[in-house]
Amino acid sequence: ATPTALMVGTGRGAQLGILIKGPEVLETTRRVDTIVLDKTGTVTTGRMTLLDVHTTDHTTETDVLRLAGALEHSSEHPIAQAVAAGATERTGAPLPTPEDFTNVPGLGVRGTVDGHRVLVGRPRLLADAGIGLPDVLSGAVADAAAGGGTAVVVAWDGRARGVLTVADTIKDSSAEAVAELRALGLHPVLLTGDNRAAADAVARAVGIDEVHAEVLPEEKVHVIERLRAEGRSVAMVGDGVNDAAALATADLGLALGTGTDAAIEASDLTLVRGDLKVAADAIRLSRRTLATIR
Ligand code: ADP
Ligand code: MG
Repeated sequence: ATPTALMVGTGRGAQLGILIKGPEVLETTRRVDTIVLDKTGTVTTGRMTLLDVHTTDHTTETDVLRLAGALEHSSEHPIAQAVAAGATERTGAPLPTPEDFTNVPGLGVRGTVDGHRVLVGRPRLLADAGIGLPDVLSGAVADAAAGGGTAVVVAWDGRARGVLTVADTIKDSSAEAVAELRALGLHPVLLTGDNRAAADAVARAVGIDEVHAEVLPEEKVHVIERLRAEGRSVAMVGDGVNDAAALATADLGLALGTGTDAAIEASDLTLVRGDLKVAADAIRLSRRTLATIR
């Protein structure tokens, strides 16, 4: 490959909104046969909205929203932002400042608010702390998942007290992007920390058959490693801090320009507009550039 032709490829990439780390990336792009897509923020907009609040008897919606909202206000997770915004709006009062706060990656948050030990996140976060769900709340969790939403469970002082349902929107361009990637001969895979039902609902809507759900951040790397061990040449598209290690492990890492710095630094390509169709453009461009060179 002549350096000049490769530079032409990278220049054309910049025009399309694709930032390429180095000319050698084009060669890897050509070989890729599998494309792993992160769900939240990549296939979906990542802008979540608080939809429903369920509580146990003797617990008020206001208490659930206040304590959950106070902790989530300290987290940058899209789910956390929806909970904090929804809580502020629905309670009509400023949220208290937590006395302490810990982010538990891929599971949720915990901390102390108004003297209560509060947990907010996946059912597994509570299970790990030995806290079970009463029927009224496990029913709300199942309903949220069946509707394609995500259930956020709220517990304090050792008991589960409420479930918040948040939902995300699929990007308008995602289904078309998946179809374009398939037309280029790539096998699409959906990868997410979210629950199985929510993941399947999104996969079905955009036309993906292979889904890896409920994957913890550190396990995302293992999914990529397994696919590579099967002999596949793997591209991964992601946006989050949680995706950085997987992006670096993939043969080709593509970060959305709308994503976090960690994801962008770990990647070979950045898709400036945050649109998945640009991933298809990137692969088409590299193939064309290399065909010209040969
Ligand atoms: P994704 O892979 O979909 O981008 P993450 O790995 O960041 O998701 O998180 C996985 C799951 O953990 C989320 O879908 C959510 O259920 C839960 N979770 C993570 N952080 C939070 C939080 N701050 N508040 C509530 N739930 C959370
Ligand atoms: Mg994400």
